[in-house]
Amino acid sequence: METTTAAASSSSSSLTILYNATIVTMDPDNRVFKNGAIVIQQDKIISIGQSPNILAQFSGESLDLQGQILLPGLVNTHVHSSQQLGRGIADDVDLLTWLHHRIWPYESNMTHQDSYLSTLLCGIELIHSGVTCFAEAGGQHVPGMARAVEQLGLRACLTESIMDSGEGLPPSWAVRTTDDLMFGLCFVLSRVQSQKELYDKYNNTADGRIRVWLGIRQIMNSTDRLLLETRDLATELNTGIHMHVAEISYENQVVKDTREVEHGTVTYLEKVDFLKKNLLAAHTVWVNKTEIEFLSRAGVKVSHCPASAMRMLGFAPIREMHNSGICVSLGTDGAPSNNRMSMVDEMYLASLINKGREVFAKGTTDPTALPAETVLKMATINGAKTVLWDDEIGSLEVGKKADLIVVDPHSWSMIPVHDCISCLVYCMRTENVVSVMCNGKWIMKDKKILNVDEAEVISLAKQASNQLLKRAGICIPDRMNVL
Ligand SMILES: [Zn+2]
Repeated sequence: METTTAAASSSSSSLTILYNATIVTMDPDNRVFKNGAIVIQQDKIISIGQSPNILAQFSGESLDLQGQILLPGLVNTHVHSSQQLGRGIADDVDLLTWLHHRIWPYESNMTHQDSYLSTLLCGIELIHSGVTCFAEAGGQHVPGMARAVEQLGLRACLTESIMDSGEGLPPSWAVRTTDDLMFGLCFVLSRVQSQKELYDKYNNTADGRIRVWLGIRQIMNSTDRLLLETRDLATELNTGIHMHVAEISYENQVVKDTREVEHGTVTYLEKVDFLKKNLLAAHTVWVNKTEIEFLSRAGVKVSHCPASAMRMLGFAPIREMHNSGICVSLGTDGAPSNNRMSMVDEMYLASLINKGREVFAKGTTDPTALPAETVLKMATINGAKTVLWDDEIGSLEVGKKADLIVVDPHSWSMIPVHDCISCLVYCMRTENVVSVMCNGKWIMKDKKILNVDEAEVISLAKQASNQLLKRAGICIPDRMNVL
């Protein structure tokens, strides 16, 4: 049977019917309906199938999609929403300048209002590129982020940036570098406690669209105590942990030297029993075969961020991770390390980079590496699994939330569409995403963001960004002969 339907009144006036669409469901059977229809009641999908069957069975508010493509909303599994005001502050600089002289001063000078505006601006770009759910990588002022997410109508797993040690931190974060044991312990407890308070206040708010996760910025800024307290609290709250893992080879070297393990971060995390199925490991570039096994066995999820990896980190062994059964999804990373917050671009890049890596590694080409259907999975159902939300999102299935996007392929960038799946990965541009629905409500229709005034956000964000850079003492040197 091609049409699946949940028990519901077939003539309820509260139904929304989208029909005459190519529906790429991303369900376990990989069903694609060439002339499909979907029925939405409140926030849920109650039926999906061939248009003639659905139209005969249901009545309600109907929308003829005229051959456009329907996809599940894309899931961005690693994005720094509070870094959006810092786009362009750290282009083409070395890693130390990037972190110590640009990003940390920027982040440590942010206010709640900056975080709110930054998340609004970031959210607008995410929605335009077809994202309905994102995982915040660990940023500043969760209350500001939550306010923006609630207003935009998006779905998100929000995480605070958490560090309790490390060199070169800004003065306002200096307390985190203390070596005093008693003070250090109190600080760890308060950092963990403050996240518990955020969880109690914001988890499952905004009609269930907001979840609160725990953060570990990265191992070089974490004491063991912080790691273990975080692991235990995440288990107690049944939530996830978002952490940057094995980003650069220097990180592995520091872990080897200071924590006495044979290889790097992943080996150490295995040793202290930190690797669990609720861990979202971002980047995970510098891992060896044994460490890939550790990640796979523990059920750790990996967010691959191709643009930022190419710019700053290196080639992640995505094919090897896939082959070992690890759930790999896609992320954009933050605006100062990628500049484009488009999952559409990341899909394209992921496919090309991982084909290119084969040549680099083996000396022979392999265009079959990371095919389009795999990339599409990474951006949808694997994304949902990564954020521990695949029981409700990530595919278009009866009973799941109505998180979906409409792609218009009838333009110069996608025509002709001979192979719909490859066309979505290799041809689609952000501009082909025309409408976005999250939790059963349109949040963008015909390219217009519905819940916030886009022009007003852009204007406020520009002002806030300039003031923030001034406060942080960040000066971007001129390039070329600026007159
Ligand atoms: Zn990141």
